Amino acid sequence: MNKFYSLDIKEINPLTLDSVEIKFDIPSDISEKFKFKAGQYITIKNNINGEEIRRSYSLCSNPNTNEIAVGVKRVDGGKMSTFLTKEIKIGDILEVMLPTGNFIFEGGNVVAICAGSGITPILSMMKSSNSAFTLIYGNKTIESSMFYNEIRDINSDNHFIFSKEEVEGCFHSRINDSVIETVLQGDYKNRGFYICGPGELIDNTEKFLIKNGVKTSDIFFERFTLVKKKNVVDKSKTDEIICNITVIMDG
Ligand SMILES: Cc1cc2nc3c(=O)[nH]c(=O)nc-3n(C[C@H](O)[C@H](O)[C@H](O)COP(=O)(O)OP(=O)(O)OC[C@H]3O[C@@H](n4cnc5c(N)ncnc54)[C@H](O)[C@@H]3O)c2cc1C
Repeated sequence: MNKFYSLDIKEINPLTLDSVEIKFDIPSDISEKFKFKAGQYITIKNNINGEEIRRSYSLCSNPNTNEIAVGVKRVDGGKMSTFLTKEIKIGDILEVMLPTGNFIFEGGNVVAICAGSGITPILSMMKSSNSAFTLIYGNKTIESSMFYNEIRDINSDNHFIFSKEEVEGCFHSRINDSVIETVLQGDYKNRGFYICGPGELIDNTEKFLIKNGVKTSDIFFERFTLVKKKNVVDKSKTDEIICNITVIMDG
């Protein structure tokens, strides 16, 4: 179950000053095992300064291709994210677990709300979606936004929110109730809502959606970090929680 596979790094693409996309080479004899659903993640293991470190990274590639790729944003002082964004090179081998997770794209008319590195599972969903897809994506600036150009090339209803920069046609704000209402214009019915980002974004957005009549069964979310508040953790919807940290992901 917890088996790790040794995978070659095939490609490393710088995304922003502090983030990269990493693509793995998957040998044909295990490519079936690495099939995944949009929204799922892999766990990477590495020995860093004599300590075994394991961290999860959501797949950002299209599940309908054989590509396995992740987008990693460096966290100040972060062991694995610093290693992955600064030290690896093409041809290095990383120990990787098979894709897993319950934050799974179910298609249909979707609204995705995310910030910072929370874009990664959402990008995979966008790449594989065949129907209406509305994206609300928050960052500090264009320059700090992972996959900004790639997303603009996807034919979806994209809304960018920048907290530290004024950009024509974009919101100059953080993601909040008013941004969501301005984008959705009261159209909350028969849509699936996928949220990924800081805990506060998930909690506030979920409350706002429920207030607007969205059923909890239509709200899906992925937390990249441990949540301490007991009343907001829905075990049926969250994935394996790896570490106890404070998250600031909008830049
Ligand atoms: C299911 C899942 C999917 C994930 N997908 C992605 C992904 O696609 N891309 C991605 O970049 N990350 C993702 N993460 C987060 C990732 O697993 C690591 O937690 C992150 O890279 C930090 O690990 P680290 O070893 O560098 O930091 P650590 O060494 O664990 O932490 C170092 C310091 O940084 C703080 N810190 C850690 N993380 C954050 C943060 N996000 N914001 C602010 N401070 C922090 C800690 O409190 C600590 O003080 C995901 C997590 C989960 C559980």
